[in-house]
Amino acid sequence: MNRRDFVITPAAALAGNLFAAESDTPWQRRIRRLGQTNMTEHDPVALDVEQWADYWASLKVDATMVSVTGILAFYQTKVPFHRKGKHLGSRDFFGDCCAAAKKRGIRVIARMSPDLNWEDAVQAHPDWFQRNAQGEPVRHGEDARLFRTCMFSTYMTDYVTAIMREVNSMYDIDGLFTNAWPPLGSMPVCHCDQCRRLPASGTPSYWEKFNERTVYLWKLYDSIAKEKRRANFYFANLGGGIRSTADLVQLGELCEWFQSDNQGRGGDDTPIWTCALQGRVCNAVQKGKMANNVTGAWSTGSPRWRNVYKSEAEERMWFNETLASGMVPYHHIIGGEYGMGADRRWLEPARKYFEWTAKHDAHFTTKRSIANIGVVMGQRTHLFYKPPRGAQIAQYMDGLYYALLEGRFLFDFVHEDKLATEELSKYSALLLPNTALLSDRQCAQLAAYVNAGGSLLATFETSLYNERNEKRSEFGLADVFGIRKAGDPIGTTGNAYLARIERSHPVLSGFSNTRWIPGAENRLPVAPVDNPVLSVVPGFVAYPPELSYPVEPKTDEPAVVVRERGGSRLIYFPGDVERTMWKSGHTDLARLLRNSIGWVAGGNQPVTVQGEGVIETFAWETQAGFAVHVLNYTNPAMHRGWIRDFYAIGPQQVAMRMPKGRKVKRVELLMAEADAPFRTEGDTVRFTIPRVLDYEVAALYAD
Ligand SMILES: [Zn+2]
Repeated sequence: MNRRDFVITPAAALAGNLFAAESDTPWQRRIRRLGQTNMTEHDPVALDVEQWADYWASLKVDATMVSVTGILAFYQTKVPFHRKGKHLGSRDFFGDCCAAAKKRGIRVIARMSPDLNWEDAVQAHPDWFQRNAQGEPVRHGEDARLFRTCMFSTYMTDYVTAIMREVNSMYDIDGLFTNAWPPLGSMPVCHCDQCRRLPASGTPSYWEKFNERTVYLWKLYDSIAKEKRRANFYFANLGGGIRSTADLVQLGELCEWFQSDNQGRGGDDTPIWTCALQGRVCNAVQKGKMANNVTGAWSTGSPRWRNVYKSEAEERMWFNETLASGMVPYHHIIGGEYGMGADRRWLEPARKYFEWTAKHDAHFTTKRSIANIGVVMGQRTHLFYKPPRGAQIAQYMDGLYYALLEGRFLFDFVHEDKLATEELSKYSALLLPNTALLSDRQCAQLAAYVNAGGSLLATFETSLYNERNEKRSEFGLADVFGIRKAGDPIGTTGNAYLARIERSHPVLSGFSNTRWIPGAENRLPVAPVDNPVLSVVPGFVAYPPELSYPVEPKTDEPAVVVRERGGSRLIYFPGDVERTMWKSGHTDLARLLRNSIGWVAGGNQPVTVQGEGVIETFAWETQAGFAVHVLNYTNPAMHRGWIRDFYAIGPQQVAMRMPKGRKVKRVELLMAEADAPFRTEGDTVRFTIPRVLDYEVAALYAD
């Protein structure tokens, strides 16, 4: 933004200080709020542009997306096959919206969709489109008039770039964005001439080509964005949690704006913390660059209602998690029927919420996460590994995540490609929930981490495959854990196996009056170890009860391998204990996992929050000092959407160890809008949060 732009947009000063502040920080890193009315073909005659712009200004958003598209043009395009919407007429709808937003000091991102086009384009450019195995162009699943384009074709380099340059030439935009590319969730399956020369889709070899093409196009689009203005850039949707299709580390380094398209749950069994998990993924690969989460105010899930508001409480919790996990909130509504939407229930709650956040921007501007446990997120494991016997890949992380919440541990995600010693120095322990795929280099990095005093916990098939999903004959981490593979995975018929208690150990704390606890549903036999803590009692039938007893009550097969080496604590579970806990809900397994995490982490947590309820906590160093976030998930809808109401939890006792040289001056509870009395004992600050309804942020002002 130059001086002249500032003079012609005086309203800018009211809208978040993005324009007024003289700073070396790129503008996108100062974004605190975002919003979008996703425009429909009908909007050029249905949407009231002034009302639309006033609404977004009232939410104090720093930027908004306005549709250019690629499927349907919202302006008077000259690019061939960029079909104008049937309600556009001679109007410059994009231009009107762009000007209205700019007048209010809101940045404009030009939104495109390169994924679909119409039959006339198929006739003229058959090579632009995906083909099925029979060689026919692939129609869209919902609207059969549309066809799927191929990302390896010149559609992406000729057609998409022509629109980008045309929009650059016509409008005062601040960036370019593509929706629906790169694909989220799965890799394309295409049998066109270009794609037939590629390795089979879904394989590690295809993934390399997919990532090469993605990075190439990303850089190309970014260079076009910069043709307009040096501060402009290109970005795209990158949601999908851990199971992201594109290489998150490559794109995390490339992208200036990590847009998480993780709009909500609903209609299926998805835990409430899915948005916070997404924030952890962003932090693992982006380290402080701008990340946001798009919250769909519309009814996500199945079936969908794109134009109807979802549960207000559910939307609110998604905003809470966005902020708590260090992302920027983004309010997303679809279509402007009747001026500003036929269902206007979604307007006011977001406005109130965003007004509240705007009072506290300095506390939501994070510098670094305070956590001493790292959870390895195996992106390749999530893309390529096939769990045995119908197990679902998400269940391993779901189970571990739940155990971390129940134990109230502070943790970060660590990507498998970021295991260099300097990346790991802040963590006293790393947890590997069935991280099956690890390269030789990654195994060596984990060994070096242990040699430097780090602790590890791993389960089941961790390190049994290399990064190309090729099975090893022995664990890549065999020497680190002192384990030897002694067979192939064993599942369950009837009863799962039991774990017989052989001796006392902190991981068994709280178990009394029993000789055994449940084992996992699946296990990988490992060779006997000295002085085992738990041994395997093999599975037997559940029915008939006459035969439901252990024929072999004692074996020397370990059900856990526990070691101490120097300052390192090491735990390997041969069973898929975290997944079995998630699936069965068994509280013994939950306790075993909590105890085990606590033991490897060493009991020296930087922040503790004690009290009743199921909560997720985040602690950050912020622009203003520090912040401890408490999300209250104590709710009957914790595992299945949507939240209907909130249930308050009582006092939460917080203790936080302060870094050397930092002194707390004041503790403010941002949701309660009250100060909390605090006391300092040595390097530890203590205070109480009296009550948490859905969310509380304790903001610590510090010198
Ligand atoms: Zn293709």
